[in-house]
Amino acid sequence: MRLYLEFLPEYNEVHKTRIGYAFSLFCAIYGHQSLAADEAESADVRIVYSPEDRNPRPKPALRLSNLYRARPIQEPAPAPRKFSRESESTALFYSPAPGAEPDWLAEIFEWVSCADEYSIQRRDPIGRIDFRDSYAGRHHLDVGVPYAAVAMRFLHEALCKCLPGVSRAPEFGIAGGTHFIVNTHDVDILPAGYFGSLQRLGKYALISLLVFRSAKHAAAQAGMALAMATGGVNPLDQTPKLLQRESCEGVGASYYFIPRHAHRRDANYGINDEPVKSLMRSIERQGMEVALHGSYTSLDQPGGLDSEFQILRELGFQPRGNRQHWLRFTLDRLIPAVEETGALYDTSLGWDCIGFRAGACFAFPPYNFAHERAATFLEIPLAIIEQGLVTSGRPEGKWYEDCARLLSSSRRYGWGGISLLWHPTAFGAGQLSPEIERIFWKLIENKRECNDTWTSALDFVQSISERYINAGLLPQGYGSEIPKEAVLSHG
Ligand SMILES: [Zn+2]
Repeated sequence: MRLYLEFLPEYNEVHKTRIGYAFSLFCAIYGHQSLAADEAESADVRIVYSPEDRNPRPKPALRLSNLYRARPIQEPAPAPRKFSRESESTALFYSPAPGAEPDWLAEIFEWVSCADEYSIQRRDPIGRIDFRDSYAGRHHLDVGVPYAAVAMRFLHEALCKCLPGVSRAPEFGIAGGTHFIVNTHDVDILPAGYFGSLQRLGKYALISLLVFRSAKHAAAQAGMALAMATGGVNPLDQTPKLLQRESCEGVGASYYFIPRHAHRRDANYGINDEPVKSLMRSIERQGMEVALHGSYTSLDQPGGLDSEFQILRELGFQPRGNRQHWLRFTLDRLIPAVEETGALYDTSLGWDCIGFRAGACFAFPPYNFAHERAATFLEIPLAIIEQGLVTSGRPEGKWYEDCARLLSSSRRYGWGGISLLWHPTAFGAGQLSPEIERIFWKLIENKRECNDTWTSALDFVQSISERYINAGLLPQGYGSEIPKEAVLSHG
């Protein structure tokens, strides 16, 4: 569709920029064309905010309620209100008058910008925002619902109603109608010699027993330690096997490495260790991506994240993206830090439970409030972290179903662009229940049936960045420095 968004004359620049950002994002996801003022006459539909009686209009127009109010960044977002139409229901930040169309662009903006997070002062012991303090946590919203994508769907359907005869089923214009799943592995732990691995297995067995209360798995881990002590294999050495099987299954993956050890929670390896560099090179040789896992304290000092990119570059790697170790970030620090590095993407935006932190089952440039504009990189939100299943309190038998439901929501509302995180140590049952590994491979087994494309973050970014550039959300020339041969290819 060719769409023109018409603001009210009284809107200030901040209002126009924020609502315009949400509109551009909607166009990028749905493949609509956003028209400039001098092309407005040729629009299929105009989206307007003016009251009904202001001007008679020759063209079909969708009238949204004028509800968005910019507030100081320290103020929380308005409490959610339930909204239903036909068989679909959602929660709204801004309730319209009865019968009027909600301000869908304001709804998209509030979710995707995570504006409410900036009002939260409290930090958990790790220095992060606790899920319980978040908008979804405080208001008991289901974080498995991609609210921003639901708002886009409502908006799409309202636009279709303006054009009689147009099908309401969205046509996203993605080749093959695929749904993208970005497959990622944070490399926190590598086998640290014989005694180091034995010690870690013992620690994992104790965690299974005392934290997860699984005597059965603790006994199995103790058995693995015993087998290793008597000359068996090291169950913590999983990365080579994982890589090999991913290659066989034809899936892409991104592996994130921590280049700096400045905190006891950082990696147990040194980035200059020859076996580590050799592992990184072998990952690249197998067509997978090596990128940055920003260290625990990487955002604590200005330039910290940038210097970690530099360490990887000096070793001969070309990292294009990042995820924060322990998901230790707040958006006010993460966004400028990633922009400073010139990275193409980040994949930190998730909770340590499964779900959609920004209400988004799609990638997007985050909103930079300090400069009132879209950020210069793509965020590929983290929707599932395997440890989130273990700590969910849900019975093990339900974990697969929980993952499948989340992915099915993402497929229902769009074409994906979310990341999944399985640490290499989650494989082989040395650290976590064997069910965690089984779920990973079962999701991959279903990829054909579900029309999922499992890819590295870099491949994903290369495949779809054009849509965001065309919508004016990413700078012209974004990603152009990547030589064509560097593009990995996986289905
Ligand atoms: Zn990590």
